[in-house]
Amino acid sequence: MEKKNLDWANLSFSYIKTDKRFVANYKNGAWEDGQLIDDDKVVITECAGVLQYSQSCFEGLKAYTTEDGHVVCFRPDLNAQRMEDSCRRLEMPVFPAARFVDAVVETVRANLAWVPPYGSGATLYIRPYMFASSAVIGVKPADEYQFRILVTPVGPYFKGGAKPITIRVSDFDRAAPRGTGNIKAGLNYAMSLHPIMDAHRQGYAENMYLDPATRTKVEETGGANFIFITKDGKLVTPKSDSILPSITRRSLLYVAQHYLNMEVEEREVPLTEVPSFAEVGLCGTAAVISPVGKIVNHDEEICVPSGMDAMGPVLTKLYDTLTGIQMGRIEAPEGWIKHIA
Ligand SMILES: *Cc1c(COP(=O)(O)O)cnc(C)c1O
Repeated sequence: MEKKNLDWANLSFSYIKTDKRFVANYKNGAWEDGQLIDDDKVVITECAGVLQYSQSCFEGLKAYTTEDGHVVCFRPDLNAQRMEDSCRRLEMPVFPAARFVDAVVETVRANLAWVPPYGSGATLYIRPYMFASSAVIGVKPADEYQFRILVTPVGPYFKGGAKPITIRVSDFDRAAPRGTGNIKAGLNYAMSLHPIMDAHRQGYAENMYLDPATRTKVEETGGANFIFITKDGKLVTPKSDSILPSITRRSLLYVAQHYLNMEVEEREVPLTEVPSFAEVGLCGTAAVISPVGKIVNHDEEICVPSGMDAMGPVLTKLYDTLTGIQMGRIEAPEGWIKHIA
């Protein structure tokens, strides 16, 4: 199979139309089989539930070429389960997890020419998503839905190495107590656009959101969970019902315990504890880990001891181990790597 002629190492994180996408429609109470199609356009009624009341959710994962030349993806079963949870909370029909994984595999196989080669740092980003496609005007769930998967090649998240970023404590909240913060709903992102643009205008790379009820505990950023390393080498990550359960974070916790013999704690993290940590990182599919060098809370500046030059030593070990597992250089736990080609 001939690869597309792209400058893989210099791709950005943006959409490129690939050859095939998966589409399945939900109608009369059932999912149709679904198929791969060429057309990238979605045609729906002007009154579709997604357009009027934002009834939609999504997932994000990556396919990539391993050291020995296979194409794989990482723990797609967890994306499938998480999308089931999102659908239930939004009164959308569940797309069964097993079919989700099959559709991911089928879509990547149909676009193998777009999977970046090993060592380029680039990956094929996979975006499964679902939206209400039939008309609603009174506020209620739609009767019909579309589940789709698009794939697009994306460049290395860090060109020239992971540089620590400066973030701020946001005055906005990301999620309501007992709201939708723990599901991957588009609506959570719509309302984060103003805070993130405002952060960028003020010179910050990301927002640290606090727990919406008391605003005293760390939650997450707009699209990544926090991991902290204590001075005695423990991994600490915030626990809260309004945090999106990151698959990268859950995988890093496992790697810390079972590969690096580290102690891990998933618990509430008061903002006042943050200055005592040795290393701070953000984790998610896109970057795996982004190091945080400084956290600004109005007049207070928290300078993370690992500094602004490079990722700290413990996060680096975690990053190297997890990416080693993903790329096939380190043996993976049972079931983590889904073989595609
Ligand atoms: C997707 C997402 C993450 C990261 O989750 P991964 O499964 O690791 O990619 C973190 N926070 C939010 C709000 C997200 O939407």
